[in-house]
Amino acid sequence: MKIKLLRDDVINQIAAGEVIDRPYSVIRELLDNSIDAKATEVSVFIEEGGQKLIRVVDNGEGMQRDDALLAFERHATSKISTASDLLNINTYGFRGEALSSIASVTNLNLKTRTKDNTLATEVNIKGGKIISVEQTSGNFGTEFLISNLFFNVPARKKFLKSVSSEERKIKQWFVQYTIANPNIHFKLYINNKLVVNSPAVENSLARARTLLKGNTIEVNKHVLGEVKLEGLLGHPALAQFDSSGCVVIVNGRLVSDKIIIRAVKDGFGSYLKDREYPIGFISLQISPSLVDINVHPQKSEVRFRNEREIFLAVMNSVKEALSGLNTPMPSSYMTQPPSYNNPYNSSLTPNHYFPSIISEESKDYSYAKNTSATNLLLNFNS
Ligand code: ADP
Ligand code: MG
Repeated sequence: MKIKLLRDDVINQIAAGEVIDRPYSVIRELLDNSIDAKATEVSVFIEEGGQKLIRVVDNGEGMQRDDALLAFERHATSKISTASDLLNINTYGFRGEALSSIASVTNLNLKTRTKDNTLATEVNIKGGKIISVEQTSGNFGTEFLISNLFFNVPARKKFLKSVSSEERKIKQWFVQYTIANPNIHFKLYINNKLVVNSPAVENSLARARTLLKGNTIEVNKHVLGEVKLEGLLGHPALAQFDSSGCVVIVNGRLVSDKIIIRAVKDGFGSYLKDREYPIGFISLQISPSLVDINVHPQKSEVRFRNEREIFLAVMNSVKEALSGLNTPMPSSYMTQPPSYNNPYNSSLTPNHYFPSIISEESKDYSYAKNTSATNLLLNFNS
């Protein structure tokens, strides 16, 4: 067989296969970029679960015309320059492949302006091909409009879930993301309706407190010398039968780290049944040199240098924080379920946003049934 080098458009579509698998992953990459660009306000708009339209507007530093074009080249990044930079990453992005990937499988419109420019640059790309580049008027910051996701990759499009399940994934992920980025004002609009409005708060604990109220367990300490652990976890009685409500944040990055989740669960010990997982979040601030984030194309997994020590430190910290609890289900808790401070648009019920994934029979805690606040809490991040 004759060997040939693949064309760039094919390479980008292959990369897109790893980085972009559904609408939420497009939003994740765009939000990461907004935050790396020092935005303090980011609004996301979606239509048809993001399959028809995703719009992300930020007030970050924007791009000059030449950068706005270079950004779509594969491995074009402003965030690292040498291999040694990989050992000390302080930004969400560094691989320089999100925009080239997104652009290769969508229709994309970018409008961006820096503070120093009076005019904005507007770029239109369709399936990886630049259609137009213009100077226009525009606000300071950056706006991406992505439409027709996977229009040129029918096989991928076929695998997209229903509009409602993509919407649910986006909302749930979005709420988790607001905890990881407390200093940013986030808004999420679905079909032009504001459904999440999260003004900036001081830290992740404060953000989580707006979501998870009542009988919670707080972790806030330094371990192993320089690792800062922070967390807010729900009462054991609110545990779920999967780990999707246990949010793990490492250096401000949402990750799906089975080891940390296990450590949190083990910290709860006999408060939880075998298959139960706590809800809430745990965040680790650790020197970037002690954690490798370049182990997954979506940067959703990490590898710790001293994994065992971290595991034990998290487990013991959770155990210690739990020691204040008397029993898994104190009677006062039965009469006073935790209250929920709803950051969502009140015109829609919480159930609408977080339809229960827990069958009623599978929960033994009767008080948890049929109260919309608790129901929402139970499905905090499912
Ligand atoms: P990475 O984030 O890994 O650098 P991307 O493909 O996501 O790669 O983005 C490429 C470059 O485009 C970024 O390094 C950044 O310089 C620029 N960029 C992307 N989005 C924005 C934004 N919202 N505001 C300012 N610059 C941006
Ligand atoms: Mg990026």
